[in-house]
Amino acid sequence: MARFVLVSDTTLSRNYRSVPLLDFLASAPTDALPNAIYSFLKGPPPPAAEGRAALAPYAVRKLEASLLKHYSKDEVVVAHEDHISEFIDEDTEVIGVSTMDPLGLGPLTMSYAVFFETRAHAYVQREFESLLARINKARSGKKAKLLVGGPGVWELTVRPEELDRNKIDFAFQGEADDIAGDLFRYVSDDSGEKTEFFRGYQTFNANFRKEWEPNPKFISRYQFSKQFPALEEIPDIVNPSVKGMVEVMRGCGIGCDFCEVTLRPLRYYSPERVRREIEVNVRSGQSNAWLHTDEVFAYQHGRHYVPNEEALLDLLRAVMSTPGITRTNPTHGRISIPAAYPDLMKKMSSIMGAGRNNWIGLQVGIETGSDRLASTHMPNKTLPLKVGPDGSWSDIVWRGTYVMNKHYWRPAFTVQVGQAGETPEDNWDTVALINRMSNSSLDNGLPFEFTVTPMQNVPLGLLKSRDFDSVKLDQSQLAVYYASYRHLAKMAARDATSASSDTNVAARYVTGALVGVGGWVMFQQVKSICRKGGLDLEKAARHGLSERPQVPSIAVIR
Ligand code: SF4
Repeated sequence: MARFVLVSDTTLSRNYRSVPLLDFLASAPTDALPNAIYSFLKGPPPPAAEGRAALAPYAVRKLEASLLKHYSKDEVVVAHEDHISEFIDEDTEVIGVSTMDPLGLGPLTMSYAVFFETRAHAYVQREFESLLARINKARSGKKAKLLVGGPGVWELTVRPEELDRNKIDFAFQGEADDIAGDLFRYVSDDSGEKTEFFRGYQTFNANFRKEWEPNPKFISRYQFSKQFPALEEIPDIVNPSVKGMVEVMRGCGIGCDFCEVTLRPLRYYSPERVRREIEVNVRSGQSNAWLHTDEVFAYQHGRHYVPNEEALLDLLRAVMSTPGITRTNPTHGRISIPAAYPDLMKKMSSIMGAGRNNWIGLQVGIETGSDRLASTHMPNKTLPLKVGPDGSWSDIVWRGTYVMNKHYWRPAFTVQVGQAGETPEDNWDTVALINRMSNSSLDNGLPFEFTVTPMQNVPLGLLKSRDFDSVKLDQSQLAVYYASYRHLAKMAARDATSASSDTNVAARYVTGALVGVGGWVMFQQVKSICRKGGLDLEKAARHGLSERPQVPSIAVIR
C-alpha cells in the first residue's frame, strides 16, 4: 500500500461550472450563501480512477512528481477526495494536504467576513476542516502523520493553535520541489535530530523583512540554506492537472510592497517545457491550457520591465500549436502593458484565437484608483508608463481595459480596501475609476467588459486575535464595495447566459440563471449594508462621472 498519500482541499479540485469568477465562491461565508447553491455551483467532483484522482490541482501534481523521483508509483498516491480513506492503512507514513486558504484569512474571504460582519466560517474553512476530519478518522490508531503545505500555510503561522485543534502534525512552509523526498522521510521519522530543516516558520516584520520564528509544529528551510529550487530542480508533472493548468514562471520581480511573490527568485520555463506539461493534460482529454503566472507580461522581460514580445509570442505559439489545444489563457497580468503596447496585445490575441466567442480572462490587481497609493505601494507596476508624465493611474487602467476589450480580453480586476496609509480620498478615487469604466464603451458602442472584486486588508494583529469586529468600514470603503458590486450586478445581468461553458447544457442554463439572479441578490444585500452604514448611494453611484466619461490620452508604445 501507499507510503505517501497526497490530496488537496476540495475547493481546489472543482471547476465551478466553468465560470471563471466562481473560483472565488468558496470564500463566501456559510451563513450568506445557501449550501444547496454553493454545492451546485462548485460543480461535481473530478473523476476517480481506482480511487486515485484522475485530475488533481497543479501544486499536488508537482509534489507527486517530486516524490516520484525518489519513490515508486505504488508508494506515492494522489487520492481522490472521496476515496482517501481507502489508501490509509498501517503502511501509510505521511498524508500530505495542499491548501490555499485553510482558515479563511485570505483577503477575499476577509472582505466578505468584514463586510457582512459575520463570524461564520467561509466554505473554504468548512471544506478544509471536513477533509481533515475524514483523514483523522481514517488514520486514527495508525502511524501515519498529517502534513499540511501549500500557499495557505501562512494562515497557520498566524494561528498556530489551529494545528492542534485540527490534529495536524506538521505544516511545511515554502517550495518543496527539490527537497520533497527528504521532507517526507523526515516527517515520517520525526526523530527530532538536527537536519537540513528548521523547526519553525518564516514571517515578516513591520518593514516586510523576513524573520524566523521557532515552533516545533512547523518545518521550513534553514535561514542560510538555499531557499528555493532552481529551475532544473523542478520536475515536470507526470499526471494531469485540474483545468489544464501548467506553470510558465515563478516569481515576479515587480516589487509591489505588499506582495510576497516578488521576494521569490524569477524562474522562467522554456516554451518546450510548458508544452511537455500541456501534453500530459491533453492526454487526459483536456483542450484548454491555463498558464499559471503571477505576471505573464513579465515573462523573460527586459530592462525596466519592458515586455519581451518575442518570448511572449514564442510561448503562446508553443502552447497553441500543441496538438489537442484549442484555448489558452494566462492567470495574472498587469494592466500597464496592454495600456502601453496595444500591438503586442493584438498579436497575442491573434495567436490565442481570441474573439467574440473566446474571451481571454485575466486576473489583474489594479489595487486602487489613487495615484498616491499606486506610486507609494507599487511604483513598478505602472512601468514602462509613469504615473504623472503618462497620465493618472486611473487613465492607465482605463486605457489598458480599452485595449484588452478591443482584442477580446476580459480583465477580472481586484482592488484593495484597508491598504497601509489609505485615506478616504484614495478610496473615492477608486470609486471614481470603477464608475468611469462601468460607464465606458468601445468605439463600436459595446460597453467595457470587466469585473471588479474588493479585497480587504486586515492587520495581522487582528487576524491573530480574531478581533474582526473592530474593523469598521468607513463610508469611503463602503463606497468601494458598493461601486464594485453595482458593476458586478450589471455584468452578471448582461453576460449571465454566456457565463458558463459547462458541457452539460442543463447545468449551463441553471448556472446562467443563478449567476444573473445571484449578482442581483448580492447587490441588494450590499446596498442594504451600505445604506445602514450611512452611505449616500446616489452620490456613490455618480461619483467621478462627468457628463461624459473622459477618454484619456496617454503614451502608447508600438
Ligand atoms: S505585479 Fe502582482 S505578483 Fe508582481 S509584485 Fe506586484 S502584486 Fe505581486
